[in-house]
Amino acid sequence: MLNAFALSAQCKGIGAELGIHQQTVQSVCDQFATSRDQHRRCPRFRASFGLKRARGWVPFQAQSRRIDGNSIVYKGRRYRFFGSGKRAVPANAKSGAFVEDALGRWWVVLYADTPAPAVAASGSVGIDLGLKTLATLSDGVVVENPRHLRQKATRLAAAQRAGNKRRTARINSEIANARRDFHHKLSTRLSREYAFIAVGNVNAKRLAKTKMAKSIFDAGWSTLRHMLRYKSAQFVEVDEKFTTQTCSECGSLPPSRPKGIAGLGVRAWECSDCGASHDRDVNAAQNILRLARGVPRLGEGSRNLAA
Ligand SMILES: [Zn+2]
Repeated sequence: MLNAFALSAQCKGIGAELGIHQQTVQSVCDQFATSRDQHRRCPRFRASFGLKRARGWVPFQAQSRRIDGNSIVYKGRRYRFFGSGKRAVPANAKSGAFVEDALGRWWVVLYADTPAPAVAASGSVGIDLGLKTLATLSDGVVVENPRHLRQKATRLAAAQRAGNKRRTARINSEIANARRDFHHKLSTRLSREYAFIAVGNVNAKRLAKTKMAKSIFDAGWSTLRHMLRYKSAQFVEVDEKFTTQTCSECGSLPPSRPKGIAGLGVRAWECSDCGASHDRDVNAAQNILRLARGVPRLGEGSRNLAA
């Protein structure tokens, strides 16, 4: 078995013949050897046609490309960046790749180190992730799912009914992009604002079996949690069991709490133990924050735990 070094030695001169940079050939050899050793078998041959067609990938090193204003020059060819007016090409960009997406469009990816923004965040927040509203914060702020995502979901359903595979694929990719963009902006905003972020462990897989699959499609909680985890100064994920039903004022599980299927429709309720009135989701978010801080345990001292 040839290692990456021997493999690229065997491929000497291929780059010139194919019109690609020899460094690209080398990167492909490296990747081939890595995947093979990892899975202990040869990767399959690349499928060029049909449903399982492999997506194109042309990696390059920093030395084999040149960034010139709003374009990248590779092997004497110029590829223009769209949107470079909005976001400048990072000056310290290193290697990268031309990559093909599921729709056969080509993109250029550049790897760059970006300094972590100076976090001026302070304060803490609990976040209740939901179906109807994407997130409710413990300070009462509500984050809706963007309308355009819902509109796209409607178009997606229509395309699926019509059996239009290509259209379905395109809308799916539009939704994925739009959702990622929205989640990035939201998680960046939250992590700049709050130093301590607590989120419930609401499980999309468990709920996906119900009829609410479409809303879950829009929500993408796990992606959002993942982004918050690596962006925030301090991140805690808590078990959200009973967070909806416990009164965040007095910590009891009062008889008046929203519970069961009927409780799903309850937006506002009043604690029959202490008289506090609650917005269902804000109350849950406050409980999540308290849990994350480790005080006090939910339902503790409640007389109605079994109810
Ligand atoms: Zn209460």
